[in-house]
Amino acid sequence: MLRVAVVGSGPSGCYTAQSLVQGDPGVHVDVVDRLPCPYGLVRYGVAPDHEKIKSLQGSLRTVLEHERVRFLGGVRVGGPGGLPVERLRELYHAVVYCVGAATDRRLGIPGEELPGSWSATDFVAWYSAHPDAADAGFLHGVRSAVVIGVGNVAVDVTRMLVRGAAELRPTDIPQAALDTLTASGIAEVHMVGRRGPSQARFTTKELRELGGLPGTEVTVDPADLALDPADPAALPAVQRRNLEVLRGWAERPPADAARRIGLRFFLRPVEVLASGGTSRSGEAGSGEGRVGAVRFERTAPDGHGGVTGTGRFEEVPAQVVLRAVGYRGVPLDGLPFDAVTGTVPNAAGRVVRDGAPSPGEYVAGWIKRGPTGVIGTNRPCAKETAASVLADAPALVARQVPEDPLAALRAAGIEPVLWTGWLAIERAEAALGAQLGRGVVKLADWDALLTAAGSA
Ligand code: NAP
Repeated sequence: MLRVAVVGSGPSGCYTAQSLVQGDPGVHVDVVDRLPCPYGLVRYGVAPDHEKIKSLQGSLRTVLEHERVRFLGGVRVGGPGGLPVERLRELYHAVVYCVGAATDRRLGIPGEELPGSWSATDFVAWYSAHPDAADAGFLHGVRSAVVIGVGNVAVDVTRMLVRGAAELRPTDIPQAALDTLTASGIAEVHMVGRRGPSQARFTTKELRELGGLPGTEVTVDPADLALDPADPAALPAVQRRNLEVLRGWAERPPADAARRIGLRFFLRPVEVLASGGTSRSGEAGSGEGRVGAVRFERTAPDGHGGVTGTGRFEEVPAQVVLRAVGYRGVPLDGLPFDAVTGTVPNAAGRVVRDGAPSPGEYVAGWIKRGPTGVIGTNRPCAKETAASVLADAPALVARQVPEDPLAALRAAGIEPVLWTGWLAIERAEAALGAQLGRGVVKLADWDALLTAAGSA
């Protein structure tokens, strides 16, 4: 029997577990997660109003309920207080790290750290009820928001900023985030790309959805489209369709909507500026030092898909800035790490140490290939890694490992949240929703999650 630990229960972890048990009837997999809840970014990254994508949880659930797969939640691997990677390796024949890309990329511009300038990752974690997230006062006194970046995360946070109660109430968004979002005074959101429309990273379905939001107008400056040098006929299908959608919006007459999404291009952020004012409530200094605007440099196409600065600058007023410029992998103690790509060096999923594949150590998902692609991209990625594990299996099983790693974890003082604990959390979330007159409502803090799991 081959005992494998998969670290991370997001899509890449679940697809890896699935490929392993389907590929060999002698494989047993423990899917370990530091949270008591499974599904990774499907639970804590996909926006609450994207119910269809969220329903993928159903197929991930089937994997975690497989007779040779076991969910061990609440087990931190690596880091302070976590189970050392070396110890985990002793407990299993093989370990596959599917830990994703846990942090955000930085802009590296002055003012980035001002109160009111947040990474989209923090904002997403908050409205997704991640137990480590808190309301940092994201929308306090906010009329105008700047979202930096034109990828799908930028589209998600832009959409969530203008969604109304009627659309969010039926979702599983935590009550506090629902109340804050629907009470906000946001009137406009500027979503800003440093390059041109034909280089934007969002996908057409996600872009198009912005045009259908109730009470919200989308504007595009025709001059930005005119500046884009791309020949639509030569573009890949996604970019061509994106341009068609943007053109349609640029040609529309102005509407009288309560909220406006302004899509801007060819603007490179150079500084986040403080407001220097006082809050409307008059509290001394409480508005001072918070974000007041973003200063951008106008850019122009360089003819090679990039842009150059023009020396012309523009300030866009905003009381909140959400930086949606991509995720970044973080090193895990005990594993090699390529700081340039933010990934673990690997060959077909086998972790490479000192230039050679390290037996029994594997990666899949964003920590293997970087933070790109949609959820389905993880399937072939996980399959490749699982194939490497199974090919190495004859050599790996020669090493003696404990009969049941769970007993060893418990002996080390770790009491994992088992699948029954997760089912109890699900019941508690259904009960909370019923109490609030809503459907399922997510529990948003550690105490509530662990108390619910403990009642299994
Ligand atoms: P992304 O697709 O890589 O987009 C990042 C954006 O930030 C790009 O527009 C990029 O512009 C810009 N950017 C990077 N550095 C910048 C800087 N210093 N200044 C200004 N702009 C900067 O990343 P993401 O939106 O975080 O998405 C990550 C992955 O998750 C993607 O594969 C995405 O499709 C996926 N995702 C999918 C969905 C969905 O399917 N509904 C939802 C969310 C996320 P440049 O192109 O110029 O670098």
